Amino acid sequence: MASGKEHTLGTILLTPLTGLFAWHLSQGDQAITILASTGCLSGIFISPDLDMQTRTVSETTLVRWSWTIGYIWIFLWYPYALFFKHRGISHCPLVGTCTRLLYMVGYAFLLQEILRHTMDIEGHLMYWLKNHAITLSIFSAGLAISDIGHWFMDNF
Ligand SMILES: [Zn+2]
Repeated sequence: MASGKEHTLGTILLTPLTGLFAWHLSQGDQAITILASTGCLSGIFISPDLDMQTRTVSETTLVRWSWTIGYIWIFLWYPYALFFKHRGISHCPLVGTCTRLLYMVGYAFLLQEILRHTMDIEGHLMYWLKNHAITLSIFSAGLAISDIGHWFMDNF
């Protein structure tokens, strides 16, 4: 089992490899390379270890960087930690990544509904998701690579 710091280091090391892989697959498309790399790097914070009810290393780092953002992040992900058992489905390659992506879409939907009912602002979340499906897929693929690295480090 790897520590939080080891997972962070693993993700940082995987990021340029993900970028190289995306660069090669896309035949040198910069936007795809940056998106896939950013998705992988985001795995430091959108980590499978968000299933822990105790504070993770990345959450502690966020609190240190920005007290407000850090505690909001911890608050938003606490239900995820309550719902998912540590190193359960949340750590399953691809499936675990999907749980976190859907969880974030759930919050976006909740925010959209709050804005609609309190301020009469239309969010058009489904329209936005559909129009950015390719962008989101490339980012998600990068995140999935980070999660596979996490899974690998936890199991071997
Ligand atoms: Zn883990």
